[in-house]
Amino acid sequence: MASNNVQPTGKDFSLAIVGGGICGLTLAIALAKAGIPSNVFEAAHKYGEIGAGIGVGCNAVRVLEELGLARDVAAKSESSSDSADGSGHHAAMKSFKFVRGEAPHEIIFDYPEGPTDEGLGLHRASFLEALAGNIDRSMITEHFKKRCTSIQKMGSGRTLLVFSDGTTHETDVVIGADGLKSTVRRFVLGLPEGARDESLVFTRTAAYRGLVPIEELKAAGAKTDFLQSLCWFGEDKHLITFPIRDNKILNIVAFTTDFSRPMEYEGNPQEWVKDVPQAEMLKDFEGWGPEVQAMLNGIKNPSKWSIHALYPTIDKYVAGKVALIGDAAHATLPHLGGGAGCGIEDAYVLARLLANPQTNAANVEAVLEAYQTVRVPRGSYTANQSKFAGDAYEGHGPSGPTDEGRMKDFSKLWEEIWRHDLRQELRVAEGALIARGAFTS
Ligand SMILES: Cc1cc2nc3c(=O)[nH]c(=O)nc-3n(C[C@H](O)[C@H](O)[C@H](O)COP(=O)(O)OP(=O)(O)OC[C@H]3O[C@@H](n4cnc5c(N)ncnc54)[C@H](O)[C@@H]3O)c2cc1C
Repeated sequence: MASNNVQPTGKDFSLAIVGGGICGLTLAIALAKAGIPSNVFEAAHKYGEIGAGIGVGCNAVRVLEELGLARDVAAKSESSSDSADGSGHHAAMKSFKFVRGEAPHEIIFDYPEGPTDEGLGLHRASFLEALAGNIDRSMITEHFKKRCTSIQKMGSGRTLLVFSDGTTHETDVVIGADGLKSTVRRFVLGLPEGARDESLVFTRTAAYRGLVPIEELKAAGAKTDFLQSLCWFGEDKHLITFPIRDNKILNIVAFTTDFSRPMEYEGNPQEWVKDVPQAEMLKDFEGWGPEVQAMLNGIKNPSKWSIHALYPTIDKYVAGKVALIGDAAHATLPHLGGGAGCGIEDAYVLARLLANPQTNAANVEAVLEAYQTVRVPRGSYTANQSKFAGDAYEGHGPSGPTDEGRMKDFSKLWEEIWRHDLRQELRVAEGALIARGAFTS
């Protein structure tokens, strides 16, 4: 993308972002739009995402709108008949309907949706493409094949990033957007080299994922209207489905949870995602109704995700001039489709605080602490509410597995996720900075 001729703000600190996923790129773009340059270090040779869909909640859509990114992301979305038409009108992802996974597949609850509650459903790679198309290279310096392996505090007060290829980069502020297995989190949590990061646990939930053409499902006899967001609930298992790619492809995630075991640290294997035989997935969903069988039969080569996340949630996102955003800070069970949305919010709040005219090298640590003060409760809420949701989908919610119990637990699932007021968060953060004398009123 051509430069927007944004003038650098003249901040007296340099900033590096580790990780060029959805959250890292959103932050880099938000900073660039505010006139703050950054260096982005990405481990892969290019920006990339797995072949799966992602739902972007209306809370995150509002942030993308404010950053001037919603139109480009929506243009990649095309998840409904209201497909993006260049007018800025979003392709909508409707709220979920809850359908019984066993026959006769009746819908027991339709999550109420307000006029401004529309989200987006799209392919993950398309999301990243939309973000990459907004990179202003006069403000954002990209470095690929740079896997950060450690972070060192220097005597000068600056920070040294060390990469697996032996190179280093010296900077003032570091933002870790390096996802679930974050290296930057190790620094923030103060883990000695070689120590295990036991904050990351196996959630005892596995997910089979696949993308299936909706036409194929129809040809196989499926009768469901797949052009809606559906949660197929059941006992110890559930499926989430929604259409992407101009309503042509169904994104399917089939979850199964072993409630007999605790969530616990399980080592840190490289392979948390593996291809599995279709028969294994079909066996897990034996006895589920014909529409579920049709969908699962459509996934010829499923991948199985062993879902790891940060439970209990961590309450430290910042150490000195190093801060975490996105999954590095609050990797969550994915049951509300809110993980990336929460990370997009992190990026927005952090960028706004860093861009404040009063932020400078002398008070940037206080600014990062203010970010932590407002974002830790939000990240923790999102993660804990996502767990609550998954329990309810699978018959382990506080109100029990009856239809009445489930409906009660489903009734307000997204209330706080969608309605959260980020401007209020910014006011609280700025108030805290004034109170400690880092900002003047
Ligand atoms: C099954 C499933 C379904 C989900 N569905 C949804 C959904 O519908 N909606 C939603 O909002 N969220 C969803 N999520 C959560 C969402 O995927 C994550 O919250 C989101 O991808 C996090 O983005 P991120 O940028 O923080 O991290 P990532 O997407 O993990 O990006 C991290 C980036 O950092 C790079 N990196 C990693 N380590 C290093 C290093 N040491 N040095 C340099 N670079 C590094 C990686 O290559 C990557 O590019 C789901 C998650 C799962 C598991």
